[in-house]
Amino acid sequence: MGKPTGFKEFDRKKVPWRLPIARLDDYAEIYTPPQTDLLQQQGARCMDCGVPFCQSATGCPIDNLIPEWNDLVYHGRWEEAIARLHKTNNFPEFTGRVCPAPCEGACVLGITNPPVTIKNIENAIVDHAFEAGWISAQPPSTRTGKKVAIVGSGPAGLTAAAQLNRAGHMVKVYERADRIGGLLMYGIPNMKLDKQVVERRVQLLREEGVEFQTCADVGKNIDPRQLLAEFDALLLATGATKPRDLPIPGRQLRGVHFAMEFLTANTKSLLDSKLQDQNYISAAGKKVVVIGGGDTGTDCIATSLRHGCTAMVNFELLERPPESRATDNPWPQWPRIFRVDYGHEEAATKFGADPREYCLLSKEFLDDGQGNVQGIRAVNVRWSKGSDGRLTMEEIAGSEHIVEADLVLLAMGFLGPEHYLAESLGMELDSRSNYVAEHGKFTTNLPKVFAAGDCRRGQSLVVWAINEGRGAARAIDIALQGASVLPAPGITMGTAINVTV
Ligand SMILES: Cc1cc2nc3c(=O)[nH]c(=O)nc-3n(C[C@H](O)[C@H](O)[C@H](O)COP(=O)(O)OP(=O)(O)OC[C@H]3O[C@@H](n4cnc5c(N)ncnc54)[C@H](O)[C@@H]3O)c2cc1C
Ligand code: SF4
Repeated sequence: MGKPTGFKEFDRKKVPWRLPIARLDDYAEIYTPPQTDLLQQQGARCMDCGVPFCQSATGCPIDNLIPEWNDLVYHGRWEEAIARLHKTNNFPEFTGRVCPAPCEGACVLGITNPPVTIKNIENAIVDHAFEAGWISAQPPSTRTGKKVAIVGSGPAGLTAAAQLNRAGHMVKVYERADRIGGLLMYGIPNMKLDKQVVERRVQLLREEGVEFQTCADVGKNIDPRQLLAEFDALLLATGATKPRDLPIPGRQLRGVHFAMEFLTANTKSLLDSKLQDQNYISAAGKKVVVIGGGDTGTDCIATSLRHGCTAMVNFELLERPPESRATDNPWPQWPRIFRVDYGHEEAATKFGADPREYCLLSKEFLDDGQGNVQGIRAVNVRWSKGSDGRLTMEEIAGSEHIVEADLVLLAMGFLGPEHYLAESLGMELDSRSNYVAEHGKFTTNLPKVFAAGDCRRGQSLVVWAINEGRGAARAIDIALQGASVLPAPGITMGTAINVTV
């Protein structure tokens, strides 16, 4: 612990985002460059707790050695800090940017004061390390002669690839999209995670010996049985890509889209042509309604604003969360509180108010007479908790009204992986339609076939995908070699936090 009185002397100060008015003009990252002295002060706030909840239980799912690198940053020992950070996290530049930071929700300082800015410190360590040239490809010194195929190049697939390659296996990643990265590439927008940051890490993996094949849709243009014959193990890391639909009257109207149709096309067009090819769904000049919140909803809001939408409403079915923890949501649980994310802040700057409207149920998409959506018939609802603790929803009589919209984006979550690959292999699915594979073992009902990430646990977080990628790599290594030196995080602990994406 660098400064025993640090937590008393210094207040929490986050690295600020760029001003919304400036951000709205571009797709550059929202973050400002970190100030070293400010981060060292934040590192000094860490109390080096006897039981560091930040890195255990409800805290970090990959057991990041947080108090250790907080202290190293406080002392300006950045190179040692990145070495500690890389011990548990293959990709801190992703989590440092996009993680909701369960570690901060569990930070002991948070009981009485605002928590340490752990996420900012993590991001600064890795950015500083890249700038200083301390991060370079580390190919394995020997090869085992074993070959592993990974389907899906999201954070789960990439993490497993990095770890298995480190253990000396030959790894080939198959990705159906034209770029590597999964939702890191085509999901989370550039404003939150610059795509050069993703490509920089993929390039390092290539230099370390990992092979990638894009436009390789396993189960469609690649036969998975051929992979099973060719490789010693097959890891499915295909994500939870099936969106939840809203099957109300008018769903077929033009202008009603799934969030991912909107976000994926936008990023692809941005990367291919700086949006010049027009191959995206434009929100320019449109009244936009985003149905559903979480990260996906926020990203739709922020992207629509950059296109130049003329109005923005965000429907939320649930009640507005409280400003501070409710009594049934004590520390160290993830705080279920009202938050203002970057898209909400930007909408408020542009239109003068937060775009979220709570307790709103969509009943029908309205037709303009020519097959285009022109609005949504909605009704207000009230929620009540029964004696069994279950929430029930009731429509409020007479509250029906119309919200104008000529672009509607559905951001209501995801229903597990698509099933064509599972069907072609004969995979077992659970009641939530995810691949059946126990966390810690990651084995499926099929010999040689493993599963990890959102396709196994359901739509979650990047940090959980990293947890699963590391765990699955260890399980595969043990299956191939009989033992493994690869670490596996959070196998016995760590409950998923309930964050909507
Ligand atoms: C819009 C959005 C924003 C998000 N924002 C955040 C955030 O800010 N912070 C956070 O922590 N989490 C966020 N998440 C969640 C996070 O991105 C996911 O939990 C994480 O990416 C899951 O990783 P994964 O590797 O399991 O799957 P994915 O990232 O979904 O990757 C799966 C990959 O498999 C490929 N694939 C699927 N089937 C096949 C096949 N048959 N053949 C070949 N390839 C295939 C897909 O094309 C995809 O590239 C967000 C999610 C969304 C949708
Ligand atoms: S819980 Fe908070 S104060 Fe305690 S060691 Fe972790 S970061 Fe530091």
